[in-house]
Amino acid sequence: MSNIMPYSRQLIEDDDIQAVLKVLKSDYLTQGPEIAAFEKELAEYTGARYAVLFSSGTAALHGAYFAAGLKAGEEVITTPNTFAATANAALYLGGRPVFADIELKTGNINLDLIEEKITTKTKILTVVDYSGYPVDMDRARDIAKKYGLVLVEDACHSLGAYYKSKKIGTLADMTILSFHPVKSITTGEGGAVLTDNEEYYHKLLLFRQHGISKENFINEAHGTWYYEMQLLGYNYRMSDIQAALGRSQLKKLDRFIARRREIISFYQEFFSDNEYFDFTVEEEGYFSSWHLFPIRLKEHLITKKRKIFEALRAQGLWVQVHYIPVYWLPFYQSLGYPKGICPNAEKFYESEISIPVYQAMTLEDARKVASILLEVLQNV
Ligand SMILES: *Cc1c(COP(=O)(O)O)cnc(C)c1O
Repeated sequence: MSNIMPYSRQLIEDDDIQAVLKVLKSDYLTQGPEIAAFEKELAEYTGARYAVLFSSGTAALHGAYFAAGLKAGEEVITTPNTFAATANAALYLGGRPVFADIELKTGNINLDLIEEKITTKTKILTVVDYSGYPVDMDRARDIAKKYGLVLVEDACHSLGAYYKSKKIGTLADMTILSFHPVKSITTGEGGAVLTDNEEYYHKLLLFRQHGISKENFINEAHGTWYYEMQLLGYNYRMSDIQAALGRSQLKKLDRFIARRREIISFYQEFFSDNEYFDFTVEEEGYFSSWHLFPIRLKEHLITKKRKIFEALRAQGLWVQVHYIPVYWLPFYQSLGYPKGICPNAEKFYESEISIPVYQAMTLEDARKVASILLEVLQNV
């Protein structure tokens, strides 16, 4: 790569390439054995009973909301501090995202604000482990249980993280993963739903394959060729080429996370008590996968964020901002969501910058990032 350092990126090694080549030379490029093998290994790694691969994290969210039974007019309570897909998947089914504000400390949804958002139409609570830092899942589960909601954990940032010594993957009714290149491990494009629930599992399998089943028929089979379309699904399959890459990457996940944590330890030490910005520190019981290292500029620097951002990019740091509050996006504005409904998310957006952290980074790279950042902030 050039000397540009992005906020995150993949690490592909020779054995990853060999794994993909092997599939290319085999009989099955899709619907072959790699899918089931990757699903089994993901389930083993996370401790979930079932893993269902999808063509993207977005498709996995769509599948999860479908499996949860979300109907037109029903509501999904979620955070505005996320990628648009978390909320969009509700719209795909005619559902309505309802946004609850976040806590500034972590960027995660404020669980104190959920109950006041619950109506007779609320079906799903979707929490997002922003930056890889887990939500307080015991509390989220208690709320979901009390009101009969399906709990979805958008863990697109947090594969490899732990909450109270438990791996992400079994803490919600359904857990969503993404294998986009910036995430913990990659398949190019790809995603998955993890669940312990057998009914969800069967619905997810049907949903990703046009709604077509080759077993458990509604009508009598015409012969051994027989298949049935039982509901309206999509082609949301992952290919075997991608699944082989995912299997190879999964073996390295713990090493990738360890490297990210090493970088973060350095940043946190280097920037402790700095006068320019705040950052999240892990509390007891929380082990982040550090998909992002979000810094939050202190009050006096917020108006200079644009200048700081551009100065960092000019120095080769391909920083990014996570996230524009979802309801600020023009499409959501056109649906009538007013501005100002989640003041903390808006404040977070105005102060946040994600600086580079990824598995291919060395400590030397991290030192370079830190000194560029310091210099920019001193001179702005
Ligand atoms: C990446 C991401 C998604 C979507 O995943 P894709 O694989 O890119 O479709 C959804 N939610 C969050 C929080 C993400 O970061």
